[in-house]
Amino acid sequence: MTTQSFDVAVLGAGLAGRLSAWQLVRAGLRVALVERAGPDGAGSAAHVAAAMLAPLAESAIAERRIVELGTASVDLWRAWVAELPEPVFFQEDGTLVVWHTRDRSEMSLFTSRVRAVAPPELVAERMRALDGNGVAALEPALAGRFSQGLLLAGEGQLDNRGTLRALLACAVAGGLHCVWEAGEVEAGDLPELGIRARVVLDCRGLGARAAWPGQPAAHGSMPGLRGLRGEVVRVHAPEVKLHRPVRLLHPRYPIYIAPKPNDLYVIGATELESEDDSPMSVRSALELLSAAYSLHPAFGEARVLELNVQRRPTRPDHLPAIRVDQHARIVRLNGLYRHGFLIAPAVTEAACQVVRALLDDDPAAHAVPAALRWPGMIAAALDTVAGSPVLH
Ligand SMILES: Cc1cc2nc3c(=O)[nH]c(=O)nc-3n(C[C@H](O)[C@H](O)[C@H](O)COP(=O)(O)OP(=O)(O)OC[C@H]3O[C@@H](n4cnc5c(N)ncnc54)[C@H](O)[C@@H]3O)c2cc1C
Repeated sequence: MTTQSFDVAVLGAGLAGRLSAWQLVRAGLRVALVERAGPDGAGSAAHVAAAMLAPLAESAIAERRIVELGTASVDLWRAWVAELPEPVFFQEDGTLVVWHTRDRSEMSLFTSRVRAVAPPELVAERMRALDGNGVAALEPALAGRFSQGLLLAGEGQLDNRGTLRALLACAVAGGLHCVWEAGEVEAGDLPELGIRARVVLDCRGLGARAAWPGQPAAHGSMPGLRGLRGEVVRVHAPEVKLHRPVRLLHPRYPIYIAPKPNDLYVIGATELESEDDSPMSVRSALELLSAAYSLHPAFGEARVLELNVQRRPTRPDHLPAIRVDQHARIVRLNGLYRHGFLIAPAVTEAACQVVRALLDDDPAAHAVPAALRWPGMIAAALDTVAGSPVLH
C-alpha cells in the first residue's frame, strides 16, 4: 500500500469530524477523514439527533457556557450553511414552549431556571410570554389547545442528515480524502491505512472513551467519558402542520417535537443514564408518542418511520473539552453531550485553531484567540501547545 501524506487526519466522521474536516479543507489544508462505518453517518449520535439549536431552551438544564457557545454557534451555522453548495434545511423561527394547564408549575420552574442561567439581556430580548391567541397566531394547528405559551425567539434547527451530507460533499469537492469502513481506528493505526499526518484530530465521540480516562470520585471512579442513552421517534404526520420546534413541559415526559421538511417530525428525547444501545423500549415509545398525541391528536394518524437509539458522548461536567497531546501531536475534541448541533461550530472552530497552531508551531497566531474566547474549554490545550501556562 502506498502511503499518502496529509496535514491533518480527522478520526470519526460524525458531527465534529465532518464539521472540522470541512473547515480544515476550507483553510487550504490536506486532510484525511477516517471513519469506522460508512458515509451515511449511521452509527453516529449525529445521525439520530433532532438537531435543534436552542440555547435558551437548553439553559433550563445546562450551564451558561453552553448558552454562550450555542449563541455564537447559531451565528456560525447561519453563515456556514449559506456557503454549502447544496441546500440544507436551516430555520431560525424560534422555539414554542407550551404546557397543559395542570402542569403550570413546570412553566415557573422552566422560566426560573432559564433566568438563573442565561444572560439577562438574552432572556429580555428573546423570551416572550404568549396567551392562547399568541400561541394560535404562531402555530395555527395548536389553536384552542393551549391558553399560554412562551416563544424563545431566534432559536433554530437544522436537518441533521442533510447537514452531514452537505458538509461531506463540500469537503470532498475541496480535496478531502476519505477512508470508510476502517473499523475501530486509533491514531496509531493510521500508517496501516496508508496515512501519514502531521496532526491528528480525534473526533470519535464515544469511540474515543479510552483516550479520556476517568477521575477518582468519592464513590468509585467517574468515567472521563460516558454514554447517555437517548431515544427519538421519527414520524410522517402530514395532518399536523407545525412550523417550528415545540417543547411540551411535563413533570414526567417533557418532550420536543421538531418539524423537518416533507411533514417529517422528530419526537424526542429520552435521556437515560445508561450505556445500553439496544432498541427503544416500549415504555419510551409510549411516553414519547403519548406526549406527542397530547400535544396534537393528529399525531394519532402519523406513521412511525424510525425508532432511534444512540448514546451521547458525555464528560463528567457535561461540558465540551479540547485536549492536546503535544508529544503525539493529537488534538482531542469531545463531550458534545446533548448539545452537539447547538455548540459544534464554536467548539470545532476552536479545535481547528489549536490544530493550526500545532501545524505552525505558532500558538499565538491561532490558539491564543480561541483560548481567550473560550478559556475554560481550551486553556489546558493552550498550555500544552505553548509549553508553559499562558492563560488562567
Ligand atoms: C437522541 C439524540 C438527540 C439529540 N438531539 C440533539 C439536538 O436536538 N440538538 C443538539 O445540539 N444535539 C443533539 N444531540 C447531540 C448530538 O447528536 C451529539 O452531541 C453529537 O452528535 C456528538 O458529535 P460527535 O461528533 O462528538 O459524535 P458522533 O456524532 O457520535 O460521531 C462520532 C463518529 O466517530 C465514529 N467513530 C467512533 N469510534 C471510531 C473509531 N474507533 N474509529 C473510527 N471512527 C470511529 C463513529 O462511527 C461516528 O461516526 C442528540 C443526540 C441524541 C443521541
